[in-house]
Amino acid sequence: MKIHLSQFAGFCDGVRRAYEIISTLDISKAKKPIYILGSLAHNADVVKKIEEKGIAKISLEDFLQSKEGEIGTIIVTAHGSGPEIFEMAKEKGIEVIDTTCPKVIKVQRLAKVFSARNCSIILIGDKGHKEVEGINSWGKGKSRIVSTQKDLENLDFSNDKKIVVLSQTTQSEEFFEKAGNFIKNKFPDTQIISTICYTTYDRQGEISKLAEKNDIVIVIGSKESANSTRLFEIAKEKNPKTYFIENSSQLEKEWFFGMEKALVTAGASTPSWVIEEVIKEIERL
Ligand code: SF4
Repeated sequence: MKIHLSQFAGFCDGVRRAYEIISTLDISKAKKPIYILGSLAHNADVVKKIEEKGIAKISLEDFLQSKEGEIGTIIVTAHGSGPEIFEMAKEKGIEVIDTTCPKVIKVQRLAKVFSARNCSIILIGDKGHKEVEGINSWGKGKSRIVSTQKDLENLDFSNDKKIVVLSQTTQSEEFFEKAGNFIKNKFPDTQIISTICYTTYDRQGEISKLAEKNDIVIVIGSKESANSTRLFEIAKEKNPKTYFIENSSQLEKEWFFGMEKALVTAGASTPSWVIEEVIKEIERL
């Protein structure tokens, strides 16, 4: 069986950059205790490596409720966070290591600018996702978040004067376009700014083209990861023999019976060593 590895599989630039900042951090010089706000990547191996470095995970709620002196350094992940985190850190003397991806910062700035201009912001993205919550926070928490067709249909435009549509960086291009057209139809003056990251475009475009040309597709990633889930959905639509796994132990031998060509891809939070293990295991099977 031939195994084709997607050229865009694995860590995107933003997650790689954040991981490098954290893995090369000189712990002895950082103010302790050191915490990371949520997970850097939705991957158990990455989470473990960070923990082994002496960096503990903290939720947004626990961080906001922490008392002065309880936290020495806080690491903001590539997904970014709202301005309240930076303000609170300053007030309590907490050092910040900000690994927010520059492309996410761009969306945060757009939300800030358009909110200051009293525009209504419609953010196409997953409700509750860290990046989306952070962007919304930079826009003073006034964005309407659209995740589904139903959300679109429920939008009320009666109080809108100016509308700007922005996207989560890992949003599906297809849904963003559909949502943009729907909104523009109801409110013709809408300004639509696609802030989908090119990495996501490339990854989704490639899987969309290659999924049906292969007998089986393996998508590696966490179900908590928005971009991995999106990759799986796109591939599954094109090829019903698509499987979503987190690591090599979840591969099943019978999936490969009679298969001649396999495509392997991975979400932006999947490290290279996990992809290598999956390929080795497919070869072994
Ligand atoms: S997917 Fe793109 S925007 Fe998101 S962290 Fe990666 S490089 Fe940055």
